Amino acid sequence: MVDCLFCKIIDGEIPGDIVYENDSVLAFNDINPIAPVHILIIPKEHIATLNDLEEKHTQTMGELFLAAKKIASDKGISESGYRVVFNCNQDGQQTVFHIHLHLIAGRQMTWPPG
Ligand code: AMP
Ligand code: ZN
Repeated sequence: MVDCLFCKIIDGEIPGDIVYENDSVLAFNDINPIAPVHILIIPKEHIATLNDLEEKHTQTMGELFLAAKKIASDKGISESGYRVVFNCNQDGQQTVFHIHLHLIAGRQMTWPPG
């Protein structure tokens, strides 16, 4: 059994400020937001990094993006726009090793990212 912060939020052992949930994904506000909207969308199944993805995760990965679309609509940011990001390992600045899709919005983004 992995000792994982986000699995603990899924299990309710650690509180999360949950904004959306279905059978396969959970979404909650980032504890340290970098924009007015900063939500993390995670699979309920523990997957450590993008490198651990397998064929069987195809449906779940699609669910993450459908959740992002739905949350964006609920938050009224669909038209103004938003950014979705997965970080992977050290160079990608991944710090929590349970994959999560960052949904970031509410200010003008810049490109390229730092
Ligand atoms: P990453 O650097 O891509 O692994 O992103 C991890 C994110 O998790 C960061 O944006 C953190 O602010 C966020 N985070 C860490 N702990 C918590 C927590 N307990 N609840 C919500 N978000 C968290
Ligand atoms: Zn986990």
